[in-house]
Amino acid sequence: MPGESLTPIPQGPVLVTGGAGYVGSHAVRVLHAAGVPVAVLDNLSEGHRDALPREVPFFEGDLLEPERLTEVMEAVRPRSILHFAALCYVGDSVREPERYHRVNVGGTRNLVEAARVAGVQEFVFSSTCATYGVPEALPLGEDHPQRPISPYGQTKLDAEGVLEEAARGWGLRIARLRYFNAAGAAPGGAHGEDHQPETHLIPLVLQVALGQRERILVFGADHATRDGTCERDYVHVDDLADAHLRALHLLQGGTADIACNLGTGTGHTVREVIEAARFVTGHAIPSEDAPAREGDPAGLVADGRRARSLLGWSPRRSSLEQILEDAWAWHQAHPSGYGEA
Ligand code: UDP
Repeated sequence: MPGESLTPIPQGPVLVTGGAGYVGSHAVRVLHAAGVPVAVLDNLSEGHRDALPREVPFFEGDLLEPERLTEVMEAVRPRSILHFAALCYVGDSVREPERYHRVNVGGTRNLVEAARVAGVQEFVFSSTCATYGVPEALPLGEDHPQRPISPYGQTKLDAEGVLEEAARGWGLRIARLRYFNAAGAAPGGAHGEDHQPETHLIPLVLQVALGQRERILVFGADHATRDGTCERDYVHVDDLADAHLRALHLLQGGTADIACNLGTGTGHTVREVIEAARFVTGHAIPSEDAPAREGDPAGLVADGRRARSLLGWSPRRSSLEQILEDAWAWHQAHPSGYGEA
């Protein structure tokens, strides 16, 4: 399992916000398995209690309730925070930008203030390649200008700014980890992706394979890519989790500020994903071309060299086939997600 090669972190528990969500819960399990003491704060608006080991302390609470944050800090007394809790739908963010700013930026501000009072020293933040906007060239390096084209991307960039202020202002050590496309499921399929409603390509494709949907719509067939469909850099959630553990080690060792892309450096088009899913599942998976989705750049592929050199991170389960195999195991075992866990 990713993370096993690292020695457990000796000092202070790690508070994981959004730890019942998709990426957060995988990170909690990887940290827990590596012997790192963790506690979870989640408002369960999107997350699932069943995604977490029962023995991990769980606090229900919202980033918009500062008093609750204070209570949780006093109960957990964390040395470090991994901050996953956020609203994450680009489309929703266009319709409800104020809510996205309130939760993603205001919530992060509340959390950082509570962290300052509690004496938290390290803070690892789930950021996104959506902070870059439309790429000037691929692959995308960390020094690419950050000019988001969606309110979602803007809120994540603003939250990065909140952390930079705290780093400068009172010495919080920070990591901004900019994910490309999180995908996959725990090996064996006991845990995986369960969004309501589901909007992401891989779970939707697998729902077609399961017969839960008739076809997959391909958003845009004349993008400037090798087959006209959007190209994305899919990275396995357990590899993302491993990168968080590595970032935490570096910060706890004294590194002040990390900004890293988390992607494999290899892109796959929508048609390639569908074709690979046909191969992995053995199902036909009908597809139909549909208009491009607004705000979708043609290609998003990471330059992942900094994560490799700085974090010593190398994705282990992020081949497209492995991602699909793990996700397929999860979807087959849990056709209604955690509702049937
Ligand atoms: N996509 C698609 N059909 C769908 C859902 C997604 O063609 O039903 C495409 C989408 O346009 C994007 C890629 O699949 O190019 C990945 O989309 P997803 O929503 O999974 O992640 P995003 O790239 O938006 O973070």
